[in-house]
Amino acid sequence: MNTYDVTGRKLRAEYHKGGEQDTLRTDYCSNLIYEQGRPKMLLVNGGFVTFNDNDNANDSLSFGDGLGGASYHYYLTDHLGNNRVVVGENDSIEQVNHYYPYGGLMAESTGGDTQRYKYNGKELDRMHGLDWYDYGARWMNGLTFTTPDPKAWDYTDVSPYVYCENNPIKFVDPDGRDYDVFYDGASITICATYFTDEKSAESAKEAIAHWNNLNGQFTMDGMPVNFDFTVSVVSSKDIPPGASTEKYIKSKANATISGNTYILKEIDNSNINGETQSGRLVTIDPQKATSLTGAHEVGHTIGLQHSDAGLMTAASSDSKRSDKVSKNEVLNIIRGAVKGKPTKDTKGNSAGKGYFHNTSEYPHKKFKYKMKEIRR
Ligand SMILES: [Zn+2]
Repeated sequence: MNTYDVTGRKLRAEYHKGGEQDTLRTDYCSNLIYEQGRPKMLLVNGGFVTFNDNDNANDSLSFGDGLGGASYHYYLTDHLGNNRVVVGENDSIEQVNHYYPYGGLMAESTGGDTQRYKYNGKELDRMHGLDWYDYGARWMNGLTFTTPDPKAWDYTDVSPYVYCENNPIKFVDPDGRDYDVFYDGASITICATYFTDEKSAESAKEAIAHWNNLNGQFTMDGMPVNFDFTVSVVSSKDIPPGASTEKYIKSKANATISGNTYILKEIDNSNINGETQSGRLVTIDPQKATSLTGAHEVGHTIGLQHSDAGLMTAASSDSKRSDKVSKNEVLNIIRGAVKGKPTKDTKGNSAGKGYFHNTSEYPHKKFKYKMKEIRR
């Protein structure tokens, strides 16, 4: 049984076999992991620290306090971020992982249970022979995901259960979200990345500039709200011969945390100037490349539905559409990330899914969500 917080971060895993007394409990407190209430390991960049138990009757502290000392362990990773070798403090090899292409462990792997972060650096849950990887949004069983891809709409030509479009050599799926909100106790920053091709780059840059220009125009609870959107242009030289440009860019976006796709493409329905699928795939009619349409669709990727005035007005022909983003909309972008659940319109279409990074010691529950617009 696993417990998650509102942002989807794992807090606790409990394994039961037989009675309560046979429960093994693991708690995840940021990057510190407790087992049965004792600090077990601290995850750091490039490795981890373990705490040795030195419990005896004279111990003044009642938990594994590291009095037995701490040991450092380092990961040697490959180009996909898979943990291949764990090296100890004294250059001793503690664990070797060989993987089948989808993360299954090969027989010659050693020290399997001592360190659970393996394929793509994800936690492998081997308890009672489960052998599933925890990918945050979904579990992967070393071949396919165990539930359909929440973004299955983007990939209607492949099974929603497959991992990385059946190409695990090239792609990773970090956890499937469309934008990030960072909070450091003094400011709030909204981030998203838009993958695009060379011919769509100008349009994409103009669309995100609309949002980045709002930087410093709003405050929430007295803190400045920043916008930090970026465009990542995929060079035509990088697209494999014979591959579809659109699919290749989509897979790039999908392989990145908070990645979206932005492309100019003829849309079959002549009444539509632009559209956003699954909250993360933006298609703009080439004739609307330099209009507000791009900025409007980017609005959908960061959690916004239609409104009856301003930039998010449904039809671009509507005289009420303008370049205006309201303080309520900025509030909704932040709230959506705090809740971790995308909003849905009346037809069930969902806007982009946000992820909230509470990087300060203050809990986000303290937010009063008081938005102010600073007039310039
Ligand atoms: Zn729209």
